[in-house]
Amino acid sequence: MAEHTPMIKQYLTIKAQYKDAFLFFRLGDFYELFFDDAKKASQELEITLTSRGTGAEKERIPMCGVPYHSAEAYIQQLIEKGYKVAICEQTEDPRQAKGVVKREVVKLITPGTVMEGKVIQEKENNFIASVTDFSDETYGFAMTDLTTGQSYVTVLQDSWQEVINEVATTGAKEVIFAPNILEEKLTQMTQQLQVTVSYEESVEPPEGLLNLCNDLGQQKLIVTFGRLCAYLVRTQKRSLDHLQPVVYYSPTDFMRIDLHSKRNLELVETIREKKKKGSLLWLLDKTVTAMGGRLLKYWLERPLLNQGKIENRLSMVETLIDEYFGREELRELLKEVYDLERLAGKVAYGNVNARELVQLRRSLQQIPNIITTVQNLNNRYGDTLVNDIDTCEDLLLMLESSLKENPPISIKDGGIISDGYNEQLDQYRDASRNGKSWLAQLEQKEREATGIRSLKVGYNKVFGYYIEVTRANLVHLEEGRYERKQTLSNAERFITPELKEKEALILEAEDKIEQLEYDLFIQIRENVKGYIAKLQDVAQKISELDVLQSFALVSEENRYTKPKFNDERHISIAEGRHPVVEKVLSSGEYVANDVIMNEEREILLITGPNMAGKSTYMRQLALISVLAQVGCYVPANSVDLPIFDQIFTRIGAADDLASGQSTFMVEMLETKNAIAKATERSLILLDEIGRGTSTYDGMALAQAIVEYIHHEISAKTLFSTHYHELTALEQELPALKNVHVSAVEEDGKVVFLHKVVDGQADKSYGIHVAQLANLPEQVISRAKTILTTLENQPVTEKERTVVANEAPVQLNLFNETIESKQKKQTGSNLSDHEQKVVSSLKKLDIL
Ligand code: ADP
Repeated sequence: MAEHTPMIKQYLTIKAQYKDAFLFFRLGDFYELFFDDAKKASQELEITLTSRGTGAEKERIPMCGVPYHSAEAYIQQLIEKGYKVAICEQTEDPRQAKGVVKREVVKLITPGTVMEGKVIQEKENNFIASVTDFSDETYGFAMTDLTTGQSYVTVLQDSWQEVINEVATTGAKEVIFAPNILEEKLTQMTQQLQVTVSYEESVEPPEGLLNLCNDLGQQKLIVTFGRLCAYLVRTQKRSLDHLQPVVYYSPTDFMRIDLHSKRNLELVETIREKKKKGSLLWLLDKTVTAMGGRLLKYWLERPLLNQGKIENRLSMVETLIDEYFGREELRELLKEVYDLERLAGKVAYGNVNARELVQLRRSLQQIPNIITTVQNLNNRYGDTLVNDIDTCEDLLLMLESSLKENPPISIKDGGIISDGYNEQLDQYRDASRNGKSWLAQLEQKEREATGIRSLKVGYNKVFGYYIEVTRANLVHLEEGRYERKQTLSNAERFITPELKEKEALILEAEDKIEQLEYDLFIQIRENVKGYIAKLQDVAQKISELDVLQSFALVSEENRYTKPKFNDERHISIAEGRHPVVEKVLSSGEYVANDVIMNEEREILLITGPNMAGKSTYMRQLALISVLAQVGCYVPANSVDLPIFDQIFTRIGAADDLASGQSTFMVEMLETKNAIAKATERSLILLDEIGRGTSTYDGMALAQAIVEYIHHEISAKTLFSTHYHELTALEQELPALKNVHVSAVEEDGKVVFLHKVVDGQADKSYGIHVAQLANLPEQVISRAKTILTTLENQPVTEKERTVVANEAPVQLNLFNETIESKQKKQTGSNLSDHEQKVVSSLKKLDIL
């Protein structure tokens, strides 16, 4: 360090406080990065890496830089990649500085605190979370969306995985921990989720934010939220006035769907492409406001457990379906409502411009009409939503009287404030207008006085106002009255004392106008600050109305039905459909299916060929339950359901590879999770459990798991399997029933009917599916031969025997002996004695 120049020393001192961030170090018109920051940033941003000599001149320091006026885009790129960026500015005028210019980090931008740019999706919250490990198996969890000001806090129990699930649900991009968080726990989280990790020691909510946690009784909550606030204040260094009081929620208020199940069910994004398109959210999203879009996602990840609350939403959806005109009117009005939550956030941050305040005004103008429209629907829940909305009349009046219709984005150039809002401003404007009309008259006057018809009065930025006369006409000018200002190729420009005087007046007025408009705008903006909490309340209600109208629209368009709920744990779905699969198939192609489950049908064991529709059937039940519990209509003719406390799924293997665990291990972990946590009020979907291991292993496990669920849990369970042997369980387990997805064979080819009916499937259609996939005929016919051979083999031989290509007859001969013996027996097992004979026969080396 001693060898470095004073500026590099300053850099290193500051950098030491921001080790985990790129330090953007302001140097004149550039932000420079040095050392490792420079190396890494030059790669990430694809900018040139250069170097600069040190004081010692021995080694050169790697560096790279970006012009400050285009830095925003580079910063965004780094944030999108999950990095943090510390902005270090010159905090004194370089001309005044003695020695090295003073510099300070003015803000730290992180993925969880960024306020604009691509990271911020219109219809998604951008949460930053904090987690406290209380080392008694409880974990504090808090989250804030800085763009909207919403905060939530809770305590999670059981396991660290619960915390990971919660972080995943909220989609938080950044998580704040105490510095002493266990490395192992961090790793577990970062292996499963892409999050930026940050640390904060302080757990004291800063003074100004204390009131936000007034309602938090529990120390654990305060500590966790305090840590989050402390971090925000420390890094953001600006107003957090828009943060709303933190809301406590209990995880037990919502249906629990763990991380894997959520992904499996494709609630908010598809498994493979991680895109919204193709997910349930995509299907349901007919919201017209950004706020509604965000709330819809939030709801979908948190289906309700409280029947009353669910019924409230459903009743409003029903009304909105029945009242077509009311709904259309509401939609039209909502379309005029801008993102009030994020506007409020910008107001608090002090970076809202006049155009955005005009958006706020337009939004507020809709509110009274929205209230009336909803009241006219005569729905009790609708009324509770709108009756106590504060329309912020004063604010609206102020915005209406103060702001012009189309103000510019810049707040420094005037053109913002309406006439009549401020007397002083009006006077300046008069002066400027008078001056201008005087100028217009001047042209006329001068033309008459000089007789030069082409004489012009004009203005340019450098020379101000002037009188322009073509060269040919110069002779007509009165001597001494005109002072030359600028010479053009064939004209001269002049001023007169009179013009000079007016010019001063006009320019002064315009200067004053700009300054005064700016001041007035800042006042207005400050004024709006006082309404932030009210605006946020309006926003919340508007977003709920938006989601409900979206539910109504989707339900109507897709012929959904209103679900009913029962306490008997009965499922009765008539003609149910998978909402998304139905949508992507052409109309009429989807085959609707019933689901009947009750005390005698706690577990349905589903058999049927691959591609028949087993997993679609399973997902369909889960999605119908989720839809019902978020308060939306469901794709079916009639539906009566219990309220499920949790949904567990083990379906498909698409995302397993990425996580680095073996498919089978993941399968077992998820199954363990399901049977450890499920209650009789849960729904379990297990797809082809055991397929990841050898036949017997897998079958044995599958059977044991089914039995366990049957005896110990009694959760409603759909269990699909290709082990036809398991269908025998129907005889043993009173609450298990076989169902299968039917298929018929036509001309040697399989035709799927996609219809789920009682009873077991009688045949494996795998080879036909292979045929459908156009495998070479040679492979198909060979597979058929092998299958016939295997089918004729005793169960105990199947796994170990490879069907020889050359001599199937020999093997058959041997096997048929056993087979025929078997058939003679009443049961399927050989006697002990016979077993011994068979096995010693097998040991003989016949060849
Ligand atoms: P399985 O789990 O039995 O292998 P899937 O549930 O994955 O089969 O379904 C395979 C394909 O069959 C789906 O992608 C879908 O296109 C179609 N399918 C499934 N169920 C239905 C249905 N009820 N009606 C129409 N097509 C269906």
